[in-house]
Amino acid sequence: MGFFASFQNLAYIAAALLFILALAGLAKQKTALRGNVLGACGMGLALAATIASAAEGSANMVVFAAMVVLTLVLGAAAGIWRARSVAMTQMPELVAMLHSFVGAAAVLVGWNSYLLQPGGALPDVAENAFHLGEVGLAVLIGAVTLTGSVVAFLKLSGKISGKPLTLPGRNWINLAAIGACVVLIALLIRTQSFVEGVLLLLAITVISLALGFHLVAAIGGGDMPVVVSMLNSYSGWAAAMAGFTLGNDLLIITGALVGSSGAYLSYIMCQGMNRSFASVILGGFGDGAAAQVGEARDYGTHTETSATEVAELLRGSQRVVIAPGYGMATAQAQFPVADLARKLAEGGVDVKFAIHPVAGRMPGHMNVLLAEAKVPYRMVFEMDEVNDDFSDIDTVLVIGANDTVNPAAETEPDSPIAGMPVLRVWEAGQVVVFKRSMGSTGYAGVDNPLFYHDNTKMLLGDAKESVEAVLAAL
Ligand code: NDP
Repeated sequence: MGFFASFQNLAYIAAALLFILALAGLAKQKTALRGNVLGACGMGLALAATIASAAEGSANMVVFAAMVVLTLVLGAAAGIWRARSVAMTQMPELVAMLHSFVGAAAVLVGWNSYLLQPGGALPDVAENAFHLGEVGLAVLIGAVTLTGSVVAFLKLSGKISGKPLTLPGRNWINLAAIGACVVLIALLIRTQSFVEGVLLLLAITVISLALGFHLVAAIGGGDMPVVVSMLNSYSGWAAAMAGFTLGNDLLIITGALVGSSGAYLSYIMCQGMNRSFASVILGGFGDGAAAQVGEARDYGTHTETSATEVAELLRGSQRVVIAPGYGMATAQAQFPVADLARKLAEGGVDVKFAIHPVAGRMPGHMNVLLAEAKVPYRMVFEMDEVNDDFSDIDTVLVIGANDTVNPAAETEPDSPIAGMPVLRVWEAGQVVVFKRSMGSTGYAGVDNPLFYHDNTKMLLGDAKESVEAVLAAL
């Protein structure tokens, strides 16, 4: 084994370990930064090892170096520009776009690996079967991920309508497409003719591209974040398949890590939204939560309050919980909210943030915003850690959250969000809800009886301006 090959093996093992440690780190807010750094180091090491071993086999060093530098510069420039320019609320569409690249790469790797076969007769079927199976699967999963992610990106960015495409018998269409691809891959494995193989692979590519498009087009725009997490899983499996075709162990490990963690993330999101995991994975995700508007009910009248009154209320509180939601993200209110929490804590108030697992529009959305505003981790609690303690809380500030604090999930069995776990903020002494108007609903499109409770006051207006006004009044 040459020096570069041994170096590559060692570097790949180290990189795989770093990726596993990165995932472990990312699981908790306190260790997330370390997890990110470890992941970046792993990726740097993997890139260096791959480039070094490719350099060893290269015939023209100058052309090789130019290609590597050009690719790195272009990729890094595009990545840095997007990461800097993307707004937090656009994160799911950016992730969708990145998944489409992984899908495209898997398709290209699959094709490349097939076309590099010597022209004319293929090697013995038995010898070649495994490799051709990998090629077929890489192209299938990659193509589904590619078009699925492009449609998710277009829907999330509002470039196409978010309405689900409901063709008659759409689940049967998907099933027929999957069945056709399985048959075509079986034929590809058996074929002895290079040209026939090209035609079979072409058919697999076209059907898989159409399948990916149809799977995601059939899902409502509002449900796209869960679909993005599912495509994250698909992109991982596509990368793992590409790893098999390239004979690259690290790509197989990394792909499997992404594939399984993406699937687990989709599962957690589904639980947080009380969705069926199977229906999401199969792409049979109905018409989207936003479409299932529940029966309108008369919950009585709401009571409005002012920033001065809220400041007064906070002055008399010993224990305060802040429940942030999607509205805090759109208003970019995390900075004044963090200042408010700091000010209250300095005055001896026990302040906690209560984070619902699907608050906002992506997993960890609120944690990212609070970390951005430098809220100390010790103040941030998951739903399960605080949900039994609300009766001991004097005041809850609901900042731009709606569905995640909706008591109808527990009290109205016919509600579209029935059964969804929610923050039981209504058990606190007083609740102040920050939102812009009474007319609009949250993501699920249902009214919230919390707004009409006797111990709830509505502070209407943009969350950032309202919190700044409360801060000023304090
Ligand atoms: P919701 O989407 O239910 O409600 C957001 C609230 O914020 C609304 O009441 C809205 O009222 C208010 N709001 C919007 N803009 C502003 C503003 N500028 N200032 C003040 N208030 C504002 O938010 P939640 O976070 O409670 O719930 C998240 C929902 O998203 C759940 O239903 C969840 O299932 C779903 N979801 C979450 C995903 C995730 O991974 N986190 C993924 C997919 C879906 P108004 O317009 O009157 O201001």
